[in-house]
Amino acid sequence: MYSGIYYGFDPTVLLLIIGVILSLVASSRLKSTFATYSRVRSASGMTGAQAAQRILNSRGLYDVQVVPIAGNLTDHYDPRTRRVCLSEASYNQSSLAAVGVAAHECGHAVQHAENYGPLNLRSSLVPVANLGSTLAWPLFFVGLIFSMRPLLTAGIVLFSAAVLFQLVTLPVEYNASSRALRLLSETGILGDNEVRGSKKVLSAAALTYVAALAGSVLQLLRLLILAGGRNRD
Ligand SMILES: [Zn+2]
Repeated sequence: MYSGIYYGFDPTVLLLIIGVILSLVASSRLKSTFATYSRVRSASGMTGAQAAQRILNSRGLYDVQVVPIAGNLTDHYDPRTRRVCLSEASYNQSSLAAVGVAAHECGHAVQHAENYGPLNLRSSLVPVANLGSTLAWPLFFVGLIFSMRPLLTAGIVLFSAAVLFQLVTLPVEYNASSRALRLLSETGILGDNEVRGSKKVLSAAALTYVAALAGSVLQLLRLLILAGGRNRD
């Protein structure tokens, strides 16, 4: 029997707590960086929506739509509908934060149009990652409680698939940001000094993906430690 589960404190919970702290630090950093550069207006005065439209046109992507959506930091590119979806703040404002985020989502649209390899790999991993994030823990814990080795292994394999998805997300996100900054400068939407401000926002956003991956790796480590403890009993 794995005594930690049944008697008192399970020390592997510390790994979960470290992951939660990392993700809180990254998201609060993003919020404060975003707030700072939301107050800096771009010299061109273009809103996120206008900047997105100019970037898409500059790459010949006339059929990609730019639409406003509800929420805060909900901006994304939807490859199924080929729409750049911008939160109201990014859509309507002409701050370095708004324009930077809008350009980043256009970066994903350009990746999609160019058949960018890591983006395709990421899309193909979506179903297995969804399966992993919903089934991994239930399978694992049933396996742990009833000492069923195949369930423990299945839980770990599924969780690893979800971790792999997060790993592949990193190059996709960093690449979209570097495309965004280049396009903002090439299309004359932002000057060089302004691009530096948008870069800080996009780097802070990318760090939230790094923190999420680190948190998941720690959870995977926890599963391996718990399964190892079960083996020795
Ligand atoms: Zn992105």
